[in-house]
Amino acid sequence: MVDSKLVEDRVFSIVAEIKDISLRSGRDPKDVKLLAVSKTHPIETLLPAVDTGLLWGLGENKVQEGESKVQDWPEGHPVSWHLIGHLQRNKARKALSLFSMIHSLDSLKLGETMDRLVKEMGLSPYPVLVEVNTSGEAAKHGVMPDDALPMVLSLTELCPNLEVLGLMTVGPLSDDRSDTARAFESLRLLRDRISIETGLPLREPSMGMSGDFDLAIEQGSTVVRIGSSIFGVRERR
Ligand SMILES: *Cc1c(COP(=O)(O)O)cnc(C)c1O
Repeated sequence: MVDSKLVEDRVFSIVAEIKDISLRSGRDPKDVKLLAVSKTHPIETLLPAVDTGLLWGLGENKVQEGESKVQDWPEGHPVSWHLIGHLQRNKARKALSLFSMIHSLDSLKLGETMDRLVKEMGLSPYPVLVEVNTSGEAAKHGVMPDDALPMVLSLTELCPNLEVLGLMTVGPLSDDRSDTARAFESLRLLRDRISIETGLPLREPSMGMSGDFDLAIEQGSTVVRIGSSIFGVRERR
C-alpha cells in the first residue's frame, strides 16, 4: 500500500524547500519547476504527487516504462510526461508520441532523426534540452562541454522543428559537494556563453536531483528533477 499522505507531504516539503532556497539565492521561486522523477515507481504511488497540482510533470528515464504508465494512467489526473534518460534513435518515434519534452538530447544524429519525425507527426516545434556531461564521467550521457556550442549551432541550422529550450546536466557522483557546485556552475556559464553566441534564450538550465537541488538552484537551475525525496528509494537507477 502506498502511503498517499506521505507522498503528498513530501511534495509539499520539497516545494517549501525550493521556495526557501530560491529566496535565499535571490531568485523568484516561480522560476523553478518541479519535475517528479517517477521511474521504477507504480502509478498508485505517483497519483498523490500529481494530485497536489504542484508538479510541472513526471520524468521517466526509459521509453518502455513510460509507455506502460502513460497507457494505464487513469483519467482525471492530468499530467505531462517528460523523458529524462538516454534515447535510442529507434525509439524516437515512440518517445515523441508519449512525452511532451525530451531533456536528454545528446547527439546531432538523434536530433536529425527527431526533427524529421516531429515534422511528420505534426508536433513542430518540439521542445528539447541538450544534455551536457559536465563531470566528464564515462558512464554519463551527454555531449562534452566543448561540443555543446557546435551541437546547438548545428541543431539550429539542421533541425528547424526542434526548439532547444536549454541545457541539462546530471551532477557528478562525488560526495564532495564542491565538485557538484562546480559542475552546476560550469553548466550555467556554458549556457550563458552559448546563449550569447547563438542569440537563443536557452531559458531552461535543468539541473539538480534529490541530493543536490539546493546547489543547482543557487546556480540558476529552472528545473529540478526529484525522485527519491518524493517517492522513496529505488531498487535500481
Ligand atoms: C533518477 C534521475 C533523477 C532523480 O534522482 P533522485 O536522486 O532520486 O532525485 C534525476 N535526473 C535523472 C536524469 C535521473 O535519471
